[in-house]
Amino acid sequence: MSRSTRRWFLGSSAAAAAGALLPSPSVGQAKARIIVIGGGFAGATCARMLRRADARFEVTLIEPNPTFTACPFSNSVIAGLRDIAVQRFGYESIRAEGIAVAQDQATAVDPQARRVTLRGGTALDYHRLVLAPGIVIRWDALPGYDEAATMEMPHAWWAGEQTVLLRRQLEAMPDGGTVVIAAPPNPFRCPPGPYERASLIAYYLKKAKPRSKLIVLDAKDSFSKQRLFQNAWQQLYPGLLEWVSLSNGGKVTSVDVRSRTLVTDFANYKADVANVTVAAGRQHRRTCRCRRPHRLVPNRSGEFRISPEPNIHVVGDAAIVGAMPKSAFAANAQAKVCASAMAMLLRGEAPPQPKLINTCYSLVAPDYGISIAGVYHPVNGQLADVEGAGGISPVDAPPDFRALEATYAQAWFHTITTETFG
Ligand SMILES: Cc1cc2nc3c(=O)[nH]c(=O)nc-3n(C[C@H](O)[C@H](O)[C@H](O)COP(=O)(O)OP(=O)(O)OC[C@H]3O[C@@H](n4cnc5c(N)ncnc54)[C@H](O)[C@@H]3O)c2cc1C
Repeated sequence: MSRSTRRWFLGSSAAAAAGALLPSPSVGQAKARIIVIGGGFAGATCARMLRRADARFEVTLIEPNPTFTACPFSNSVIAGLRDIAVQRFGYESIRAEGIAVAQDQATAVDPQARRVTLRGGTALDYHRLVLAPGIVIRWDALPGYDEAATMEMPHAWWAGEQTVLLRRQLEAMPDGGTVVIAAPPNPFRCPPGPYERASLIAYYLKKAKPRSKLIVLDAKDSFSKQRLFQNAWQQLYPGLLEWVSLSNGGKVTSVDVRSRTLVTDFANYKADVANVTVAAGRQHRRTCRCRRPHRLVPNRSGEFRISPEPNIHVVGDAAIVGAMPKSAFAANAQAKVCASAMAMLLRGEAPPQPKLINTCYSLVAPDYGISIAGVYHPVNGQLADVEGAGGISPVDAPPDFRALEATYAQAWFHTITTETFG
């Protein structure tokens, strides 16, 4: 596609993109017009931090939903330990900071005209654009698993209705039933997520349906915090939770929704409740819901600017950033660094090279927390591990240490959601 005609489409309704175009704004440093697409941990944080960096910035946040439902701690909802209502956050505080929140979906970006088109037909011009639309699920990744199948075999990888559906299915399952979780290959959003989910479902089954069984079919041979999870499973859920690795035939190759069967190369697993996160496994390939891959500008990773567009930045799950995992903590950290860099660029200053931190807590039981932390820096347009930095919970910690980490996890959620939405 030539540069003069390039236009990216977002979502599935590109046809709805036609609308009256606003006149192109003149580029003024002080009154810069910045559009942020996506009101999740990355986008909402970025919008707020931009406004705080310079109150003269005209910031518009585009988000189709009136409230945001957070994925972190949604596994506790599935286990019946938490109400879905406490996962929901509105945009009132963000509006109160002077940010225009457009409840709409961005359907197309025209980088040359610097224009975003919304599903409602409105076109908005920008000086700078931040893409933070999270992930998409590839419905063609697993034979038999499509959008309709999610009503029988929920993925619950976007929090909300799917989370509640999986919870209801677990409640309805008789004691002695079999729950099967299909865990995806790398990379995917929230690397410890499937294993925290398995732990908390096992916690629920142990308490409420002790004759039941939970099988995790994995497309990998190793996973995040593996030793910590497996030690805890041995201690807390012996005989209840079984993990089947890739080498032992854990990779799900297809599903039959009607019979609730997950098929691997070695066996068929019939489930009473099936949770399929496999379809999310390769969704990074379609980041930003734009039909082209994005790469950060080499050696300018702190700006989260994408090549070759000089005015477009991408943060959060939508970004391909190397070693830094896709997490809410990472999305929030990237958004802050990006906002600060953008403010400097608009003032004509050169942003410094940043260092970013990610910390990820997982609950194995309500009073049993484990964590991992990493530090990242830009190397050749990607974020690489800072060697020797970061850490992980000790393998042999006593129960009060695990209980303390579970408390820290709660505090982490409160802090990040307050910083993003509160
Ligand atoms: C079960 C589970 C548990 C998790 N637990 C943790 C945890 O404990 N800790 C942690 O750090 N991370 C956790 N994560 C990961 C975390 O939820 C994500 O990494 C994080 O939400 C990414 O933030 P984001 O803003 O990039 O994307 P999202 O949070 O997905 O937000 C994207 C937003 O963009 C909007 N959007 C999409 N397309 C458009 C469009 N075209 N126009 C306008 N808006 C659009 C969406 O509606 C959405 O609101 C978990 C994830 C899962 C699935």
